[in-house]
Amino acid sequence: MISIAENLEKAATRIRSAAEEAERDPAGVQLLAVSKTKPAELLREAAEAGQKAFGENYIQEALDKIEALSDLPDLEWHFIGPLQSNKTRPVAEHFSWVHSIDRAKVARRLSEQRPAGMAPLNLCIQVNIDDEPTKSGVRPEEVPGLAQELSGLEGCRLRGLMAIPDPANPAAVQRERFRELAGLLAEVRRGVDNGALDTLSMGMSGDLEAAIAEGATIVRLGTALFGPRDYEAQ
Ligand SMILES: *Cc1c(COP(=O)(O)O)cnc(C)c1O
Repeated sequence: MISIAENLEKAATRIRSAAEEAERDPAGVQLLAVSKTKPAELLREAAEAGQKAFGENYIQEALDKIEALSDLPDLEWHFIGPLQSNKTRPVAEHFSWVHSIDRAKVARRLSEQRPAGMAPLNLCIQVNIDDEPTKSGVRPEEVPGLAQELSGLEGCRLRGLMAIPDPANPAAVQRERFRELAGLLAEVRRGVDNGALDTLSMGMSGDLEAAIAEGATIVRLGTALFGPRDYEAQ
């Protein structure tokens, strides 16, 4: 049996040490619990231990959990998986964040479908930071233009950039990728000034220290909290 509360504590300790090492305020790094393939009861256990932000990759699976945990009012749901433009409505209606924007069309639909009474949907552009043709995300050179297009969308707020560098990269290359993403965010900020471009969603269970050293503000941890995935739907 794994103890989610213990794993959360260990993760918090890793985040704190990495932040201190980088002379950063640990409060500037948010832990996103990536709960894909994990049952709602494990998320409930995490929530009871104080975790509020959860990242999900698959829409139907996420909606089932959101429903099952609807008695916990202060959970924050982040969509972090590939998103097709014909699947945007439930995301617009049930999530606070989308980390995986890779096309203006998807963002425009989210903007149209965001219910009027809800807070703006926070968006991150997913960057293919290894620049490999088979990977999702936009190429680094396309980021400033896409950011420009997204910056004026009603009902949404462009918050920053997300990347999943190849975990097989040697440590030094991994750190270099994180640094490149941080540099790209600085470039976007020079072109788009919405006062909210504060987010670098980067770093996972295996490389959160390098990501925090390079400025991560959200680290997305799955296996470090919940153990190995139960299945992979895709
Ligand atoms: C699954 C997933 C994670 C978590 O990865 P771990 O290595 O298990 O921490 C983070 N980000 C995204 C986008 C994911 O799909």
